[in-house]
Amino acid sequence: MKCPNCSAENKDAAKICKKCGRDFRLPPAWFPNWRWHVRTLASIYVCLILVFFVVKYALRQLPPPYHIRDIPPETTPWLKYRGK
Ligand SMILES: [Zn+2]
Repeated sequence: MKCPNCSAENKDAAKICKKCGRDFRLPPAWFPNWRWHVRTLASIYVCLILVFFVVKYALRQLPPPYHIRDIPPETTPWLKYRGK
């Protein structure tokens, strides 16, 4: 039996690796590769972008006092309004 950790040759009946001491009764550790990282990070970013647009849309549906862009410039003269 080859040790999955250090690939040292052990007896088939061995419970732990004689070289590194890895316990063979435990399931092999899972090491994600770079594809997994790319996929996971991409899905996290897609979720964050979707949440941003959902929250943006939800905030647009709020009544006027809570919709910051609908506050007239006269009430907030300390803010600089470009364009208008
Ligand atoms: Zn080993």
